[in-house]
This record gives sequence, structure tokens and C-alpha cells, in this order.
Amino acid sequence: MNHFQYKNDVLFCEEVPVADIAATVGTPFYLYSTATLTRHFLAFDGAFTLPHITCFATKACSNIALLNLFSRLGGGADIVSGGELFRALKAGIDPRKIVYSGVGKSEDEMRFALESNILMLNVESHQELETLQQVAAALGVTAPVSFRVNPDVDPKTHAYISTGLAKNKFGIPIQDALDSYLAAREMKNIEIIGVSCHIGSQLTDVSPFVESLQKVKLFVERLRQAGISISFVDLGGGVGIRYSDEEPPLPAAYAAALEREMNGLDCTLILEPGRVIVGNAGILVTKVLYTKQGGKKFVIVDAGMNDLARPSLYDAHHAIRPVIRGNDEELADVVGPICESGDFLSRGKKVPVCRRGDLLAVMSAGAYGFSMSSNYNSRPRVPEVLVDGESFHVIRQRETYEGLIAGERIP
Ligand SMILES: *Cc1c(COP(=O)(O)O)cnc(C)c1O
Repeated sequence: MNHFQYKNDVLFCEEVPVADIAATVGTPFYLYSTATLTRHFLAFDGAFTLPHITCFATKACSNIALLNLFSRLGGGADIVSGGELFRALKAGIDPRKIVYSGVGKSEDEMRFALESNILMLNVESHQELETLQQVAAALGVTAPVSFRVNPDVDPKTHAYISTGLAKNKFGIPIQDALDSYLAAREMKNIEIIGVSCHIGSQLTDVSPFVESLQKVKLFVERLRQAGISISFVDLGGGVGIRYSDEEPPLPAAYAAALEREMNGLDCTLILEPGRVIVGNAGILVTKVLYTKQGGKKFVIVDAGMNDLARPSLYDAHHAIRPVIRGNDEELADVVGPICESGDFLSRGKKVPVCRRGDLLAVMSAGAYGFSMSSNYNSRPRVPEVLVDGESFHVIRQRETYEGLIAGERIP
């Protein structure tokens, strides 16, 4: 359920007509709904009854206004870079609710995380562990760590967003991880507190989550037998959303399945949902520039693959809806202005019959939409707007041409 609905054929975001926002901020722009974000966050977080922390996966949508909203709802953050740590802190997220994932943390990023006193760093290799020990020693602090283990479970999702198979670059193979823990135990500035894993994104079935949690649970028991105490189990993110006809698990079913396995383990559960919170809480609004009939019908819009990479990158489907609903649909490709044939928002699907100047809503664009956008073709990044009831706020301004070359120098 989301708050992008039609009233008399006019698309609203909560109580605001989307066309009114377009008239004020211009197109294209990303639009988020506070009520939907809040609802999704609370539905997810509230589904768990055991001790847990919901650490929103910042990379899914990293605007500080959203991070601030989640922090006010009691959430933390899962970060994957120093830049995301900076955002999370600026947004007011409690550092004791920040977990740091990623295969390639630099020494500077480790230092920043340790100085910020975050909850834990999820270490993914032996060299990273040794580096973290050195950085922590130089600062005279102890680094709280978990290892990200790779449980070799198939999440049955797109290859680019599968992360928990043995062939993926992520984590330490679970069968080798005991050695990492034993090595870490000998390190003076490392404090072991958890085990983590994240097997992929856009999962539509709970069984891979359960399978990996079972493996993690057995592993926690082995660690305890070896005298290593574990207080946190971090299960990552990955719950899918409905883009078209997927049937992802409801938060209640997901939580119940996990809690059944967690029972008796006496650990705080850490969850890192991204897409499931923001995916259907955001849309991309774009304007039709031209239509033309070539070998097929093309609708050329003012948003491109630099603004929304998912269709080009993953061949992902995003429903295209009219901002003012007419009647007919037709088979057409909705394409952007970028000089690439891979620049499309929708291909080979029925879309609203459009005329020059019409507004279109690219649905389910809240996750990995703006956060993956770029300046390719020297296109200023688009604004982000947040609706709250009857009002809306520009939470990121449209980039300017001057902004495009800020930092560039002719020697
Ligand atoms: C991307 C990512 C997430 C979020 O994944 P979603 O599918 O958006 O829920 C969580 N944890 C880690 C480590 C990630 O890399």
C-alpha cells in the first residue's frame, strides 16, 4: 500500500497533485511520500518482537531528510562508505545504531567510523581485519567487529544483486570463518561482537533467508563452543518489493520466519532493509518531449538512464503511469535523451498514449533511483521532493550548470 493514488484521474502523492509539484520544481524530479515511508518503516520494524535494530540500508536512498525521518522512527543505518557515514551522522542517526558493511573500506573510512563510535564494522577479509587492528591501535581504541560470512545460499534474484553465493566477492566463506574469529580474538584492538551476512536483494521468497540464518545459527553455536561470545546477528537486507506481479513476503511473514530460528539464541538481531522501505515510497516524474514512429513507437522523455539506471543496468521493470489519466495504452518504448541505445525507462511494454508535454510517473523508483543517478552526458542531477500530507518540500535542489563543473580546473 502506498500513497500515490488517483483521484478523478489525477495522480496524487498523499494530498498533493503530482502535476502541481511539477509546475513548481520543473521536470524531471524524484518524489517521495512521508506517509508511505513511515508506514513501510513501522510495518517492517514493528513486525519483530525479539530485541532488534532496524538499520536502514543508506545506499538505497541516501537523502538526509529520509535518514532523519527513519532516525526519528527509531531506526539506525547500514552504511557502505565514509560518505554514507557522514550523511547518517548529519541526519541525526545514533552512532550506536550504525553498522558498516562493504568489501573495500579504506583506512580513512575505518578511522572515521572508529572516531564516530559506531556499533560495529562488518569485516569481509583477513587483510581488512589486520588493517582495522592497526588503525584502531593507532587511535588507541578497540574496534567492535563482526565478520560478514558468505553462507553460499542462492537468493534466486538478478545476478548483479546476488551476494551470498560462493562465487560472489562478498564475505568470508562460512566454512573458513572460524579461523578469522580465532585470529581476531588474538588481536588487542579488536572486539568480536557479532556475525553478519547479506545474501542479495529483491528476494521474493523467505526460504533463502531462513537457510542462511540456520547456517549462521550453527556457526554462532560453534563460536560459543570455542569460547567466543556473540551478541549480535546481522542478517542484512534483501526483502523484495512488487514492481509488477512479484509476490514478496509480507514483513510479518519474514519476521516470523526469522524469529522462529532466532529463538533461544540470545542475540540482538540487526536488519538492514533498503528497498522494502523506500522502493514503493518514491516515483520519478518526467515529461514527454517528443514522440516518434521509427521501426517502432518511441516516447522520448526528459529523464534518462543517468537519472534512473535500473532499467538499463538490470533490465528492471518500472510501471509507467500517466500523471493525468486518459484512456488508451499502446506498445511503445519510453526512452531518455542520453546517447546510448541502452537508455530506456520501459521497453516493449504497453504504456499510456502520450503527447508532447504530458507528464509520466515512473513508479517504484524510490530505491536505487536517485542514489544511483549520475551526471552522464553532463546532465544536472534532478531534485528530490518530499510530500507530507498537504505540503511538499524540496529536500535536494536541482543541480546547476555551475554545479556540474564545480571542482574542475583548466591548468
Ligand atoms: C544493499 C545492501 C543492503 C540492502 O539491500 P536491500 O535489498 O535494499 O534491502 C543491506 N545490507 C547490505 C550489506 C547491502 O549491501
